[in-house]
Amino acid sequence: MEKGILVVISGFSGAGKGTVVKKILEKSSDYCLSVSMTTRNPRPGEVEGKDYFFVTREKFEQTIKENGFVEYAEFVGNYYGTPRAYVEQKINEGKNVILEIEIQGAMNIKKIYPESVLLFITPPTAEELERRLKDRGTETDDVIAGRLSRAYEEAAGIDEYDFVIVNDDLDRCVEDVLETIESAKREPVRVKAFTESLKEDLKKYHK
Ligand code: 5GP
Repeated sequence: MEKGILVVISGFSGAGKGTVVKKILEKSSDYCLSVSMTTRNPRPGEVEGKDYFFVTREKFEQTIKENGFVEYAEFVGNYYGTPRAYVEQKINEGKNVILEIEIQGAMNIKKIYPESVLLFITPPTAEELERRLKDRGTETDDVIAGRLSRAYEEAAGIDEYDFVIVNDDLDRCVEDVLETIESAKREPVRVKAFTESLKEDLKKYHK
């Protein structure tokens, strides 16, 4: 069976990544989402095991020691990490696994899995980002200021991604993401097994 690919989705906090990912999962059974482990506190409405596995710093550091993460990073004072077992199992089952992670994690994934597809989702303007963060109403002004400041820093890394997708209209954005992934699958780096065997078979005709 063909292996699935890793799809990294990053974007500023408040870019609407979560909603985009939810729609993709509803639309296609080829995709599944890796649930991360974090040391941050749950927001109202967040569900253990669905949004995150919420753990203590001790438990997180223990998991690092056990090599239990594909990648992990610190973001605005908390740890976030991608559990290894789920990702490896689903990829082997042929599923495309979505990682909704920040930029340091994304760069680490690119190093370990060069065939992964890295997407950066952004709102159309900086002001729209501020508005979306405020409308969410789940964070204090201090936290929002921290996230906006972090967005400025993260913007410096956009060039490292494979694709940038603007989230203005949600349905359009979801279509763009799915089409982009389908095209990315045909790039040489992601069809290496096929092209290598084709080259091998062509050898017999070579004079
Ligand atoms: P939030 O606290 O808003 O849920 O997430 C903060 C940031 O951490 C977001 O950019 C989110 O994508 C990122 N994040 C969530 N899980 C992981 C993870 O497992 N690894 C990394 N590197 N970043 C993550």
